[in-house]
Amino acid sequence: MNATLSLRDQLKLLEQVQELDVKIATLDRKKGSLPDALKELDAKIAGFQKTLTAKAAEKEDIEKGQRQAKAALELNQDRLARASGKLENVGNQQEFQAASKEMEQLKKSNEELAKQQADFTAKLAAIAAECAGVEAQMNEVKGERDKVSQAVLGQVGELDGSLGEVLNERKERVVGVRKDLLARYDRLRGARAGLGIVPATGGRCNGCNMHLPPQLFNQVQRCEDIYNCPSCNRILFIPGAR
Ligand SMILES: [Zn+2]
Repeated sequence: MNATLSLRDQLKLLEQVQELDVKIATLDRKKGSLPDALKELDAKIAGFQKTLTAKAAEKEDIEKGQRQAKAALELNQDRLARASGKLENVGNQQEFQAASKEMEQLKKSNEELAKQQADFTAKLAAIAAECAGVEAQMNEVKGERDKVSQAVLGQVGELDGSLGEVLNERKERVVGVRKDLLARYDRLRGARAGLGIVPATGGRCNGCNMHLPPQLFNQVQRCEDIYNCPSCNRILFIPGAR
């Protein structure tokens, strides 16, 4: 315990603690912003995956159509065989015409189905080519993501090292500061944008730039007690005073 430190010295110490707290906050912010680069790459990868899922659904639809066309074609082959049998056994002109007409229709339908099959095959080939392109792009981004991820891990390690050092220094410094003063500072720091203690110079609070009542400014200079700015509530101290 450093009960021997004057209040003035404790305020000085507190100001040094605040410098460390500002460093800690900066390091924390840096650490927090590192994954942003990864998030961007992750979004790209998710986009590629969405495209691939859509293409897979498209492919499934086409394959379904392909199976249906194949079944229809097989059915037509059977019908065609039967129709050609009928044609051989016609008894009269009417039957001959009916059988010929049926054969003609079946042949026409066969041609259409064959054309459909070719269409489906071409579409599937196009989808396969598109998917291969998307996959190649995705793999490239994945490779980049791995690299960035490694770099981020390294940077996080470095920042953690610096943070550890500053936190240790803070732990040593706060020993000299009264517990109630430190608690008051910590509360204000949380509420007042990271600054709990601010200099008072030229009769002004340097935290909010408000003019301090002259009597208060005198009291702060004498440093017999802890004084707060009436406007922003931060702890006031006179820089460089002995
Ligand atoms: Zn103020």
